[in-house]
Amino acid sequence: MSKLEKLIVIIESFRRTQHYECEDGFYSCPSHPDYFGNDDRTFCSCGLVRDNAKVDEALQIVQGLTMLAPDKGQAA
Ligand SMILES: [Zn+2]
Repeated sequence: MSKLEKLIVIIESFRRTQHYECEDGFYSCPSHPDYFGNDDRTFCSCGLVRDNAKVDEALQIVQGLTMLAPDKGQAA
């Protein structure tokens, strides 16, 4: 595995798959399937959407840097 591939794996490991869940579903993130409060179900209060957007941004930056590299990221 190249350093570039390793970096991408590390960044991907920060991707979150679960919205915050509380035993009392009222306090879960509204986007969690078990939420039963009154907030908009499309609203995320736990930061998952924001955190994953950062993961995507980081991957895009890496991709951009790879495009700039003379060897197209084959080495490293
Ligand atoms: Zn959430």
